[in-house]
Amino acid sequence: MTGSNASKQSNNRTRSAEIMKRAQELFPGGVNSPVRAFRGVGGDPIVAARGEGARIWDVDGNEYIDFVLSWGPLVLGHASPIVLDALDEAMRRGTSFGMPTEVEVQLGDLIRQRMPHVEMMRFVASGTEATMSAIRLARAFTSRDTILKFDGCYHGHADSFLVHAGSGVATLGLPDSPGVPAELAALTLTAPFNDLEAATQLVRDNKRGVAAIIVEPVVGNAGFIPPDHGFLEGLRALADTAGALLIFDEVMTGFRIAAGGAKERFAVTADLTALGKVIGGGLPVGAYGGRRDIMERVAPSGPVYQAGTLSGNPLAMAAGVATLTALSPGLQAKIEKRTSALVEGLQKIADDLGVPLTAGCAGSMWGFFFSSKRVRNFSDAKASDVNLFRRFFHAALDRGVYLAPSAFEACFMSAAHGDAEVESALSIFREAMEAAVD
Ligand code: PMP
Repeated sequence: MTGSNASKQSNNRTRSAEIMKRAQELFPGGVNSPVRAFRGVGGDPIVAARGEGARIWDVDGNEYIDFVLSWGPLVLGHASPIVLDALDEAMRRGTSFGMPTEVEVQLGDLIRQRMPHVEMMRFVASGTEATMSAIRLARAFTSRDTILKFDGCYHGHADSFLVHAGSGVATLGLPDSPGVPAELAALTLTAPFNDLEAATQLVRDNKRGVAAIIVEPVVGNAGFIPPDHGFLEGLRALADTAGALLIFDEVMTGFRIAAGGAKERFAVTADLTALGKVIGGGLPVGAYGGRRDIMERVAPSGPVYQAGTLSGNPLAMAAGVATLTALSPGLQAKIEKRTSALVEGLQKIADDLGVPLTAGCAGSMWGFFFSSKRVRNFSDAKASDVNLFRRFFHAALDRGVYLAPSAFEACFMSAAHGDAEVESALSIFREAMEAAVD
């Protein structure tokens, strides 16, 4: 489905259904990560067969313009020849050594050139490992145990993050998943995103002192929610006053909202930064890094233990080097421009049809809510019309656009999404929105 005239595909999904039936027997919910199961939108997942550029094909041969891009990493698009060539070359030299390699130094250099505040870093294998290790380090550095996070921000599935706020601002955090010890959850405070006053109150009232404030500088895990002017600056000042470390979780925003991430976009510098996704070009990777005096506490230069058999894996490093090298400021600007065009087009369609919608983007990250008012936090997001989102999601899917299968996830663009894909997607969005409100 490549033309700009949107029409419903035949949508035979027999093979997908067959494979999911087998998957159900093997994996909880048939998947290896929950959101893939389509529980947020209902219906059955499509099973991916292959991707190329801006497009994916499912196992039944249906074609989709993909705005999920493996949840963010594929900034050059699917099966980018640049990444594939780098992988091919790296692979032939060996897939893993568990020894130092030159390619990890190259990727470290590339990251530090664009994020000079990441003076030292440690590569790990996932975003979860990056944030989990960053808070261990912050706790060790400050000799404090409590952390502050924001409602709707996702920082991976480590126990300390699977926590929600108790009732009232001064109460302790509660486990958000069975299996998270209440004693540990009590060490995580939670404030609404964009609510500096609540964050300040929580930090001030905490007698034991806060080790770290961790935040997604632009939220992607409650849908797309940008920070209010002054919010991140306020968190920086709050951390300084309280003697806490400020951790930016840039697993999603890194090399997406700007070449130099949140520091470049908002001129606020974190003490520690967690990275993932784009820096591995589609292979499993994560990293945490920041101030040298803090990072030097990590083993073996310091006492804070953290290790990994596949950390700095040469294939992931090679894919990351290829991706960041190709992602020049010019290319980044081009993707950003097309992202803006897409988001403006979507907003216009909704306005034309009288559908309450608020859409936004930062760099190549974007999202929308079916809401008549600006969404500033997770409560606002949950008050949006999730049923309308579900209908719109399926109407778009049936017409050949794959959006994140949840109203509470951001979408992405890649260098492979050209003007033609933007035009096709907008034409599909118009039809899908007409169908969804019908
Ligand atoms: N932090 C953020 C901001 C994320 O978006 C994610 C994953 N979506 C993570 C951490 C966890 O990363 P991973 O899934 O690689 O463990």
